Amino acid sequence: MKTTPWHSTRSDDRKVHHDETRCTEGNNIEDRYRKTGTGGHPKCSRCKEISG
Ligand SMILES: [Zn+2]
Repeated sequence: MKTTPWHSTRSDDRKVHHDETRCTEGNNIEDRYRKTGTGGHPKCSRCKEISG
């Protein structure tokens, strides 16, 4: 399901944003690194696949 974009502020993570609630990579982001918005990053490839 599509939702408000979020991204990780952790420097080790890929510089992408997520907008699919079913994205495992996006869901693996810890709460303290999770930030609302795209962060100016492109959309995660997994989110793209899920949303078609
Ligand atoms: Zn994603």
